[in-house]
Amino acid sequence: MTKQSAYERARDERIAEDAEDDRALMCSAVGCPRRWSVSGDRGRACSAHYWAERADWPRITEAVLRAETDRALVAAAKPVAPVSAEQKAEALAALAKFAVLVRTGQIRGALR
Ligand SMILES: [Zn+2]
Repeated sequence: MTKQSAYERARDERIAEDAEDDRALMCSAVGCPRRWSVSGDRGRACSAHYWAERADWPRITEAVLRAETDRALVAAAKPVAPVSAEQKAEALAALAKFAVLVRTGQIRGALR
């Protein structure tokens, strides 16, 4: 192990303290990504965990993680550009062409 400088030691201690502060703000349910928002007889937890039976906590944690993931995906998604009249006409023409192929039996398989 290499010797730490006083600066490095102070920096590492600061990082450890920050991590500890962050943990103190988090919901007490294992794996829950939320900060606690309710404090009472049962300790500190996010509202989803605090008001639920402990037996349900793993299921709730899973649902919270799924909801957070969905929210992040929606936030990261690029807005969809509106469809132009030209694109709309093109799509309708392609659909009409497809409908003719199906009606005349030129396309079969799963559509039978
Ligand atoms: Zn929670």
